[in-house]
Amino acid sequence: MTDCIFCKMISGEMTPDVVLETDQVLAFRDINPQAPTHVLVIPKRHITSINDLQAADAELVGQLYLAAQQVARQEGIDEDGYRTVMNCGEKAGQSVFHIHLHVLGGRAMQWPPG
Ligand code: AMP
Repeated sequence: MTDCIFCKMISGEMTPDVVLETDQVLAFRDINPQAPTHVLVIPKRHITSINDLQAADAELVGQLYLAAQQVARQEGIDEDGYRTVMNCGEKAGQSVFHIHLHVLGGRAMQWPPG
């Protein structure tokens, strides 16, 4: 997708602050962090939103969570706790339409989210 900023990060056209990369996923620091640790984990293949996931993507979705687990360990937030969030659609707060798992930690989290 030529107009997708996250695809540009994968292609190298943009250079995020990468914290983890595998053959299937890329994890980088959010440009507008909402917590001391705020990392986005994205698939290297463009998928617009959760609504576009197919059964064949199940393994890839698992890879996003395994990457989140590794990021949390690297960042030293795995023991204290962290939150993973994937927004779907504008009303839920999705602003970049390439699926991404937020990994937030380093502070206490509120529930329910606003
Ligand atoms: P969402 O609102 O759930 O779609 O999350 C999109 C996230 O992408 C937001 O937290 C933004 O701060 C983040 N973001 C947007 N542009 C960039 C960028 N160039 N580099 C890193 N994070 C970005």
